[in-house]
Amino acid sequence: MTAKKTAKKLLIANWKSNPATLEEAVVLAKKEDEAAALFKSVDLVVAPPFIFLEAVSEILKNSVLGAQDVFWEKSGPHTGEVSTDQLKNIGVQYVIVGHSEKRQDSGETDEMINKKIKGALAAGFRTVLCVGETSREDKEIPSSVGEQLVADVAGLKKDWLKNLIIAYEPVWAISTRLNSRPDTPSNVLQASLYIKKTLARTFGLKEANQIKVIYGGSVKTGNVASFLKDGGVSGALVGGASLNAEELIEIAKIANSQ
Ligand code: PEP
Repeated sequence: MTAKKTAKKLLIANWKSNPATLEEAVVLAKKEDEAAALFKSVDLVVAPPFIFLEAVSEILKNSVLGAQDVFWEKSGPHTGEVSTDQLKNIGVQYVIVGHSEKRQDSGETDEMINKKIKGALAAGFRTVLCVGETSREDKEIPSSVGEQLVADVAGLKKDWLKNLIIAYEPVWAISTRLNSRPDTPSNVLQASLYIKKTLARTFGLKEANQIKVIYGGSVKTGNVASFLKDGGVSGALVGGASLNAEELIEIAKIANSQ
């Protein structure tokens, strides 16, 4: 499988457990995919729930298909899991791993996330690892972010790193959290530099430079430009706002002009 090359701004639409019906998923995918054709400086990834992957796969022409999770094995006796082979065979190019909602709702540990990342990278997926602190007491990026990152990427082969993407997602900034608020571009810059430094210490500077860092957390039309311009990130993971095609299209338009 060859993943699409992404020297452009990366936008990942994470639909989470939405919408409720196949009909709505088809409409949303068509609108988002059609818009992707207009923005040549943006790579759009549409990540619907597993249940809609096949239908959405048939719709996407200008954007690529992402999955919100993956199991670490190619196939086998793993009830309720979706394997790397299954996702590959349905046209998935990107997988999201370690989202804070999976860590919290399903009790995903760094050990499990590490296995998923290895399985996904070995299968050739562009693999988006989410890391981020649950709360921020002061201006410093908590060391827990670095610890999470180091544990999650332990033992990766160097030739996998070109397909690794880190999504910095401070959990307190995710739009559906109580009292959430978007992070500031200067904090995101601090976090992205910290993540890049941690990756450089782990893999060496040259290898680490291949790894993109993107931001997620209440990204919308009003703030995406500042994150891309001043946050030191190469793209955005968009949750809530990606369920509204018009809003996602506007975000893509702004990202395209950055
Ligand atoms: C997310 O949960 O990955 C996310 C970025 O959500 P939202 O954009 O809704 O904050």
